[in-house]
Amino acid sequence: MNNIDVSQLRAWAEIDLNALRKNVQFAIKQAKGAGVMAVVKAGAYGHGLDAVCAVFEKEAIAFWAVANIGEARRIAAMGTKHQIFILGPTFPAEREEIIAQGWTCFVCDWQELDDFDARAQALGKKAKLHIALNSGMGRGGFLPEEICQEFDRLKQYSQLNIEGLGSHLPVADDDLDFTRQQIDCFCYVWETISTPLNLCYAHLSNSEGLLDYQIDGVNLVRPGLMLYGYDPKGIPNASLMPALTLKSRITAIQNLPVGHGISYGRTFVTQRPTRVATVGIGYADGYSRQVSGQGAEVWLERQQQRCSILGRVTMDQIMIDITDVNVNDCPEEGDIVELVGAHISAEEVARKANTIVWDILTGIGPRVTRVYKD
Ligand SMILES: *Cc1c(COP(=O)(O)O)cnc(C)c1O
Repeated sequence: MNNIDVSQLRAWAEIDLNALRKNVQFAIKQAKGAGVMAVVKAGAYGHGLDAVCAVFEKEAIAFWAVANIGEARRIAAMGTKHQIFILGPTFPAEREEIIAQGWTCFVCDWQELDDFDARAQALGKKAKLHIALNSGMGRGGFLPEEICQEFDRLKQYSQLNIEGLGSHLPVADDDLDFTRQQIDCFCYVWETISTPLNLCYAHLSNSEGLLDYQIDGVNLVRPGLMLYGYDPKGIPNASLMPALTLKSRITAIQNLPVGHGISYGRTFVTQRPTRVATVGIGYADGYSRQVSGQGAEVWLERQQQRCSILGRVTMDQIMIDITDVNVNDCPEEGDIVELVGAHISAEEVARKANTIVWDILTGIGPRVTRVYKD
């Protein structure tokens, strides 16, 4: 899609558009008739908002889900035919634009509803809103009892089109009992309020919810991570294709004697004469500093071999041990190194960094050029 010459780049991410296409098609199939709200917040999980949206735009999704109006604006500027949903919450100063543009968003409390209603009145337009139900996430929204008892109050807002009810699953990957209870709670609230309020959208599944739970009556799903090719459980999933490969290059090679420290803090000291390659990526690019000292490895593309990272990850560079690399095919300056991809999975890096794949992907910084392949 974009023909970038990578020969002069130090760190870049190759993004396989075909993998993204396959993943979204799988999500649509898995949704079994429910609409798909493609979650593309945080620059499409670090893959680049514009390019990812150009791929998903052509697929049968129902909504885009974004985190804020900056992201909503960028999608609107592309001229999309799909609706835009802001996961919110929103600031008062953002609401006029949201109403004027016809974007939909979550509302979490009465004050927000009052304010949306007043602003919509002033604009002479209707605001499109979904009720955020706090069924266990604790990140805002109406409590189930509250909304079941007081939903009549929602009818007083003449300027609001309250169209849906949504909630979120915090432990779908590791607490089935809790998640089942949440689903029951959600369904109970839906049955109580959907008819009197004339709601048309019910949604609570993230990727994990969509992959592993059958939820009757829900007609919209909100997958994020799986669109980029990862199973939230941190295991390979044959139906999904990771789209991103993070790469860098060897920038220098040195031979160090026994007893030589490597990187800040001298946390690693050579135990043998060591051939060390410096690689042009660091934590400022989003390659987590937390992997330091955790036995993290990288993949030498030409030699098809793993190498260990030595000492701490620095801002712009890391050092790797190439002592044992095939002598007939010696690493050279300019050689390509994979940090995340088919050989070193994002799950593996996340484990070493004591974090999650979402954090690894969205952490990849603006200094890393995105290169798109189709
Ligand atoms: C980010 C987000 C999602 C997507 O979650 P994944 O686990 O990446 O699929 C869905 N819903 C809400 C409310 C979110 O904030």
